[in-house]
Amino acid sequence: MPCLLLLVALPACAPEQRPLSGRYRGHDILLVTIDSLRADRLGCYGYAKATPAIDALASRSVVFDSLFTTSSTTLPAHVSLLTGRDPGDLRNGYTVSDSAVTLAEVLSREGYESRAVVSSLPLAAAFNLGQGFAVYDSDFSACRGSLQFGEGRWHAQPFDVFDCDAGETTARVLRALDAADRSRPSFLWVHYFDPHFPYRPPKGYYDEARVKRRRFPFLHQATPADLESLNELYDGEVRFLDGQLAALFEGLEARGFLENTVTLLVSDHGENLYQHDGYLDHSMVVYETVMRIPALLELPGRAGTRLGAIASITDLMPTLLDLLGVELPAVASQAVSGRSLVRVIESGGAATGHREFVACETNDYGVAEEDQAVAIRTGESKMILNNWKKGGRVFYDLATDPDETRSLTRLSAHAEAALADHHRAWRERAASPPLARRRELDERTREGLKSLGYLHSE
Ligand SMILES: [Zn+2]
Repeated sequence: MPCLLLLVALPACAPEQRPLSGRYRGHDILLVTIDSLRADRLGCYGYAKATPAIDALASRSVVFDSLFTTSSTTLPAHVSLLTGRDPGDLRNGYTVSDSAVTLAEVLSREGYESRAVVSSLPLAAAFNLGQGFAVYDSDFSACRGSLQFGEGRWHAQPFDVFDCDAGETTARVLRALDAADRSRPSFLWVHYFDPHFPYRPPKGYYDEARVKRRRFPFLHQATPADLESLNELYDGEVRFLDGQLAALFEGLEARGFLENTVTLLVSDHGENLYQHDGYLDHSMVVYETVMRIPALLELPGRAGTRLGAIASITDLMPTLLDLLGVELPAVASQAVSGRSLVRVIESGGAATGHREFVACETNDYGVAEEDQAVAIRTGESKMILNNWKKGGRVFYDLATDPDETRSLTRLSAHAEAALADHHRAWRERAASPPLARRRELDERTREGLKSLGYLHSE
């Protein structure tokens, strides 16, 4: 009902007008992260194939159309989500410093019971992202596992089973909640892994007639037939995941969990399905295929809306705390680069100036800072440094080339200067304090650097 009819429609309009800061004090928080999920492969982001559970959530949610991750690798991206910080010295496979202040730690101090159920080894408890969680379930031993490689080692970490599928994870979550203390507000984080390589959806979730090939190399000049097979299998993984999400939501609702709950669904990074550099996977590149991620935020009592302002995954922790009316400890807030999106949400996207740029880097294990690929992106243009194929510095004019089909050696002097300034500012901010726990790499660990190769030749 239009808010112009104020006298008649006040009850319907009033809730939308109430400030959002602190409005969700004491609400439960459900955080769902989905590994390697691209925004443009979801119905709610315009894809031709529907993803019913995610699309239904999107219809009730604030949908971020231009939200970007900080890292193309799993652990650093999740650390950004859970600390509001750029990853800095952290790499996939490193151990998170005890000094990091996580969302779970902040909420635990506010009386929340925090639980996490994650689905793959890069987020295992050994890497110390469980800080603040009363329960951190990274036990995959009862799962089938989709990845086998090397000698059962991922970087320095030995494993028997690398990951769980979405059906197994949904069952783990619901079992855990049956034993949970519900007298306190809950923060529940569920991580799913299915859209990640290898792409092997269960039968019934894809059209077998469209799949002529099932093994895909890490580097490959894909033919149209290869792409048809690959896309069908990737979409099949997403479809299977979506069905298991529906089961999760149903199970949570049956347990009374979704009554007063703020829900955030987001991925850690996307996936490059041979769109650039003949490359499959995500960890080596910072193109839009990897950097742009879906993000849906459901706020009870507030209708859905879409926001186009550029935003970072680091903004989501400050946003959740703002909604809950919780202050970050001063020591943590100095290191946090994310900013609350509440004002942008309240304005329906009309508020300007939230961010001038976002940044994303590769943070791959053992790779020196100067060799990391880095993207600095504004609303209109992008600079990539250290692209492994294109070398030192390339630009993209996203206003005319949103799919990054033409790499440029120059932009306008003004645009180049702005990107260089942003890069300097980002580099200074990300430098300290450290997010990784320091340790020497032993010889066996150095050998583990090759495990990426194992991953892709599997
Ligand atoms: Zn990931």
